[in-house]
Amino acid sequence: MPDRDTVIASVPTGLWVGGEQVPAVDGRTFPVFDPADGQVLTEVAAAGSADGARALDAAVKAQPEWAATPARERAEILRRAWELVIGRRDDFALLMTLEMGKPLAESYGEVDYGAEFLRWFAEEAVRINGRYLPSPSGKGRILVTREPVGPTLAITPWNFPLAMGTRKIAPALAAGCTVLVKPAAETPLTMLLLGRVLVDAGVPPGVVSILPTTDAAGLTGPLIADTRLRKLTFTGSTGVGKALLEKASQRVLRTSMELGGNAPFVVFADADLDAAVDGAMAAKMRNNGEACTAANRFHVDNTVRAEFTAKLTERMRSLRMGPGHHNGVEVGPLISEKQRASVDALVRDAVERGAVVHTGGASEPGSGYFYPPTVLSDVPADARILREEVFGPVAAITGFDGEAAGVAVANNTEFGLAAYIYTRDLERALRVGAALESGMVGINRGVISDVAAPFGGIKESGLGREAGTEGIEEYLEVKYLALP
Ligand code: NAP
Repeated sequence: MPDRDTVIASVPTGLWVGGEQVPAVDGRTFPVFDPADGQVLTEVAAAGSADGARALDAAVKAQPEWAATPARERAEILRRAWELVIGRRDDFALLMTLEMGKPLAESYGEVDYGAEFLRWFAEEAVRINGRYLPSPSGKGRILVTREPVGPTLAITPWNFPLAMGTRKIAPALAAGCTVLVKPAAETPLTMLLLGRVLVDAGVPPGVVSILPTTDAAGLTGPLIADTRLRKLTFTGSTGVGKALLEKASQRVLRTSMELGGNAPFVVFADADLDAAVDGAMAAKMRNNGEACTAANRFHVDNTVRAEFTAKLTERMRSLRMGPGHHNGVEVGPLISEKQRASVDALVRDAVERGAVVHTGGASEPGSGYFYPPTVLSDVPADARILREEVFGPVAAITGFDGEAAGVAVANNTEFGLAAYIYTRDLERALRVGAALESGMVGINRGVISDVAAPFGGIKESGLGREAGTEGIEEYLEVKYLALP
């Protein structure tokens, strides 16, 4: 395992533009913090609109040649990038823990998951196909082809600093698109290191640019307005997603939106309760609870609610909290003081309305943005925590009576990303799985992300899908050639 200073010193801190490390045009930089102690890890270049314009020029210039590069060659480059990320697994994992806070074991999990998109889409790059058919009228023939959509802007969040980037970059490159990446201001280091890997893997100059900034709107606004940009792919909050959709609509720009969630975790009376608690721990505590797929609300049939609450409380209480790179730590700090205050406000609101605290419930003063694993029960229906994304280690439990009530309460949200159900009854699992209004449903499983499965939401949780065989379609345009 490298030490903290060595890994930080190995990170390129300039912008990646035209295949090179460059300073920002105006020379500005900004600090990146360790959320475990609030200390500055390093400073990185801060991209402004002039840097965005330079990167888009490079992407537009590189686009035709990259699109014309044989799919097999694009695939080989992606495959090499997967090997290089895995070769630097320790560096990526420690770096992610340092800038984002999650426990090291979780960071290793993300390195493997995030790298896997590079390998998966290397395999998909050579399977982009079309269709041929004679017209039913007998008067012509139809040839359908797929072409790269073109220069793409990818905006990513801080919670999965590697995977949210590779889930966009890999399919875009596989499809033959050039990409500009704007990582979250809190976690630019992992993406900057990935930039080094992509160059080393043979990605040609201009094909990928990486533009950290503290002025997200100032950088991306002019890019979205530029007619040469052909696609916007965003992962982040629903609020920012809506604002970006409004801007994109002015140009009828192709968009993919992976937005917020409010996942219900529904435990039916016939569930294997121990398995449900295992699943609940995974669905709630993965990534410190800072996952869009995180179980936000636990709806438990009243016949088993007390037992489920007791078992979950015991498990949550036993978790060890501390800096993510310390041995044995299972819960790291949250990303920022703002995030900690937001989690705390949701808990206080629920308690003021009558929720019962079983463990946790308040943050302790001290350096680092820690919030203890918390279990609340008897959470009233009007509590904000049932309607808003918590993004922290808090499990809010409510009861229901019977299957229909369980489905109704689960669907009572404007979000529709992930949902989880626990039942031993196969018929019920399929019936409820079909009735739930969400893009993904875990059935007796607490972790659902899979490189080979379509990831995405319905309702206000998003548009389009990432990963799976569906993911590459987001970067392809369909063209119809009418033949005699
Ligand atoms: P966020 O505040 O929406 O930020 C996401 C990204 O958008 C960041 O890079 C951010 O830059 C940028 N951004 C913010 N305002 C912008 C603007 N006006 N114009 C252009 N870009 C802008 O979300 P977050 O707090 O980083 O991430 C948490 C959210 O992401 C949660 O809601 C979570 O559910 C969602 N998420 C969804 C998925 C999914 O697949 N559906 C996956 C992971 C996370 P700055 O960092 O500079 O603010």
